[in-house]
Amino acid sequence: KKRIVIKVGTAVLTQNNELALERLSNLVDLISKLKNEKKYELILVSSGAVGAGNTKLQLDKTQIANRQALAAIGQPLLMKNYKKRFRDYGIICAQMLLIENDFDSRKRTKNAQKVMEILLSNNVIPIINENDVIANDELLFGDNDQLAAHVAYYFNADLLVILSDIDGYYDKNPREYEDAKMQKVVTNIEESELQMVHTPNSEFATGGIVTKLKAANFLMNRNIPMYMSSGFDLTNAYDFLLNDNHISGTLFK
Ligand code: ADP
Repeated sequence: KKRIVIKVGTAVLTQNNELALERLSNLVDLISKLKNEKKYELILVSSGAVGAGNTKLQLDKTQIANRQALAAIGQPLLMKNYKKRFRDYGIICAQMLLIENDFDSRKRTKNAQKVMEILLSNNVIPIINENDVIANDELLFGDNDQLAAHVAYYFNADLLVILSDIDGYYDKNPREYEDAKMQKVVTNIEESELQMVHTPNSEFATGGIVTKLKAANFLMNRNIPMYMSSGFDLTNAYDFLLNDNHISGTLFK
């Protein structure tokens, strides 16, 4: 079976200070359909806890502890909605909260891998997020793109799919340059691209394109491809994943 990790960003899951339930629903549809194909095992890495918490309580988000508090409120809200929608497909989902040092020794990695294999072999969809409620800065990946890359590598995935608020990787920032062109296939990432400043598009996004490039770079060095496309309109993701048809979106390999 092909093992796929799908990572979805905050911008996709929240809108106007609400959870974007329709998009969440569409995402669950995609994952469930892929799963029912029988040839895929799916792992979801979901952002959005802080954004979800913010729909219930407004705190000053420049304070790290406030963001952690919001994550504590938002994480179960997010899970409640995933749970409800996966239930429509008769699929059980599970929550796995990880921090960077869960992968920093062979023993700890093995532990996590054991749990993962039990979940997947029992047809459960693991939903992973960074455990930012308890961890301090040093223990965190800081963004789910790199967490997702580690998840893909350590849990032996064949592919990482990043669903973002942008439909691929462009030769320059498409929100600044109208003539920016999408790169359909990327086989090499320059050191200078990895040093670019962070450019998250939304208030809660922590990544921007650079963290996606770092994730891609990490995986390319380990021979695992990464596909990036829109989380707003899943057409390209369906084509690529279900129909083996790469019409648009960026493939890093
Ligand atoms: P997510 O919440 O999905 O992780 P981010 O907002 O963190 O998304 O990152 C995606 C954003 O990166 C895009 O919406 C865009 O504003 C910005 N960006 C900057 N440079 C590029 C580029 N060369 N190609 C694509 N997106 C870019």
